[in-house]
Amino acid sequence: MDMKPIFEALEKAAAKSSAPDDGDFVKDGLLYCGKCFTPKQCRVELFGEIRTPFCLCKCAAEKRDAEEAERKRVEKMQEVQKLRRLGFPDAELSRWTFDNDDGTDEKLSTAARNYVANFAEMKKRGKGLLLFGKVGTGKTFASACIANALIDKGVPCLVTNFARLVNTIAGMYDGKQDYIDGLNRFDLLVIDDLASERDTEYMGEIVQNIIDSRYRAGLPLIVTTNLTSDELKHPQEIRKQRIYSRLFEMCVPLEVKHKDRRKEKLIADFDEMNALLGLNAADEA
Ligand SMILES: [Zn+2]
Repeated sequence: MDMKPIFEALEKAAAKSSAPDDGDFVKDGLLYCGKCFTPKQCRVELFGEIRTPFCLCKCAAEKRDAEEAERKRVEKMQEVQKLRRLGFPDAELSRWTFDNDDGTDEKLSTAARNYVANFAEMKKRGKGLLLFGKVGTGKTFASACIANALIDKGVPCLVTNFARLVNTIAGMYDGKQDYIDGLNRFDLLVIDDLASERDTEYMGEIVQNIIDSRYRAGLPLIVTTNLTSDELKHPQEIRKQRIYSRLFEMCVPLEVKHKDRRKEKLIADFDEMNALLGLNAADEA
């Protein structure tokens, strides 16, 4: 096949789209850019002839690179938005980020941030967190912050709870196991509020199935629960013993004890309402 006419056609096409701009000039037989003063043509030997095809000058190449970088940035942003929508069935939690962390629990904040920083290693070892402690201590907040920070890095995460998962699965005619195994497309699975779901045989079976599937895949899981250390370590039922001991195997347990954020918020709300109504504590006394 004779390549020469093909190259000539390409050259002609490039020449057409490379009309000189104002300020461009010719030096030593090559066209130069009037803005960056670098050549818009290069000299090559092709089929025994010296040719001068058009090329990108420095500023045109920089413009192309900047456009490419911008395109990639937008693409990544859209990907992250998609991951966040998918990862937070409860949209409220998608707004919980480290930026909103009031730092009341330094130990928890540090562990959560370090978990994100070391996620590659955590994932490799299939290690998650088991955050346990009283209601309102910020366990859900910390796990949502972790998921949000990882999603920012393009890591697929899902933040949900057993009640929601079981509802979804119970409504399925078939494909239940496929759905459960499908959860493994998320690098991190966060399941909020273990043991707050209805305590039935059926529920327990699904909870165990979800945890086992994650375990088999060697992928990390973050679980939050209001259960105490004693309840986690010495459950009465055999099934719970199995589930909890597997959780201890898969997760680093972290007891979260701190002031009751919900109670604090209630008190703050109460004070605000009193102020709005022109009441104050002194009047009541
Ligand atoms: Zn230029």
